[in-house]
Order: sequence, then structure tokens, then C-alpha cells
Amino acid sequence: MTGSLTIVGLGPGSEAMVTPEVSAALASATDILGYAPYVARVPPRAGLTLHPSDNREELARASEALRLAADGGQVVVVSSGDPGVFAMASAVFEALEQAPQWQALPIRVLPGITAMLAASARAGAPLGHDFCAINLSDNLKPWAVIEKRLRLAAEADFSIAMYNPRSASRPEGFGRALATLKEAGCGDRLLIFARAVSTAEEKIETVTLNEATSEMADMRTLVIVGNSQTRRVGRWVYAPRRAE
Ligand code: SAH
Repeated sequence: MTGSLTIVGLGPGSEAMVTPEVSAALASATDILGYAPYVARVPPRAGLTLHPSDNREELARASEALRLAADGGQVVVVSSGDPGVFAMASAVFEALEQAPQWQALPIRVLPGITAMLAASARAGAPLGHDFCAINLSDNLKPWAVIEKRLRLAAEADFSIAMYNPRSASRPEGFGRALATLKEAGCGDRLLIFARAVSTAEEKIETVTLNEATSEMADMRTLVIVGNSQTRRVGRWVYAPRRAE
């Protein structure tokens, strides 16, 4: 049988947020590769080999997936959320660029519900007007780039979804991001801290930037910074459809 490579998003955590086409790809897989906590979300069964790996090993994992598919496997690479958002799809295409002999393989990318959409839905409609998304990890880009993008996004009055706000290995970055936004005059803006959305540990908290502290976020948190018009209505937060 001809091998194939499918790169899927498992959504933010809840089974109910895995799309039917992703479930079908998992059901017919021979090999599943991904960061160990995501691979652990796939139940083991006969005929399926699980290949969990560490994070920071994305490129090696992507090359291994291509190799297994070239050997005839029905290979699925899993990411959380959507595979194209700060996740494995780009790593696979980077690996493919380095290995043109595999470019004829059947490759599919199946979308998933990314964390900012799940978080936004819980809060109300904070992404209802123009917005952008930024990864706060400086593993693969200099901190100066992050700061510049935050400053300009604030100036352009985008709502901003911040992924990977804070980790044990990068405890300082998120505090610096908050300081950058304050310097850009965003102190009164609403911030939504959405942690572990759609899991049993889910917690949603909304405060102003001036009230926010860096300890409010960890690696399971998605932070949405409102734009200058973002407001509360009852227990909800939304961005009006019009800009002033
Ligand atoms: N591909 C993923 C993002 C990977 S980066 C996606 O599309 O969602 C990992 C970051 O995503 C985390 O640090 C956190 O900011 C966010 N994230 C992932 N799952 C989440 C969840 N259930 N709740 C809140 N944030 C989440």
C-alpha cells in the first residue's frame, strides 16, 4: 500500500472538538508521531505504533514521519489545536524542503480548532473585530522581534492572541510582553487569561492590563489582549464590529 502523511490538529483538549475527518485519519493510521502529551490523547490499538517525542524535536520528528510514509506507512503527525498554528505543519514542510525525494508523497493537512478560537468562544466574542496572533516563545526568533510586533500590533489597535506566554524555561518573557504593551499605552485594555480551555482544568479570567501579573499565565494559557474598544457585557467580553 502506498504510504501517506497526514498532519492533524487535535483541537484544544475536548474529544467533542476533534473534527470527524481527524478522527477518521487517526482510525486508519499505522503510525502516530508528536509531542508526547498529544500522542497520549490517541488511544492505543492493535496495528498502531505510537512514536511520542520531546518538544524542541520538531524537525527530527517531521523527517521521521516522512521516512515512515515513504516506507509505506499511513502516518499521522499530531499537534494540539490546529497543526498550522505554531505547530507541526510548518516543521513538516521545512523537512520536505530539505528532502526533495519525498515531495511526491501524498500529504494532507487537516485543520483543528486552534486555542484562540476555543478561548474566544468561552469569553464571548473578543476576536469579533480585526486581530492578530503572536507566539511569545523566543526559541525560534529573537525577543526584539516579539517586542516590535507587540508594539506595532498595539499601535494598529488589533486585538492580540498570545500563544506560549510563559514556560518554566522562559519565566521572564511574559512580564516583558506586559511591560511593552503598557508602554504602548494599553493599560486600560481588557486581557482574557484562558487556561486549559475545554478540559477539566479550564479557567477563564478577565482583568485589565494594569491589573494583570505575569504569574496569571503558564504554558496552558492563551492570553487575548482586547483592542481599545473591547468591553464587557454582563459576564461576557466582546469586540464591537465597528472601529471608531
Ligand atoms: N497548535 C496549537 C498551538 C500550539 S502552541 C493551537 O492551534 O492551539 C501551545 C500554546 O497554545 C500554549 O502555550 C497555549 O498558549 C495555547 N493552548 C493550547 N491549548 C490550549 C488550551 N486548551 N487552552 C488554552 N491555551 C491553549
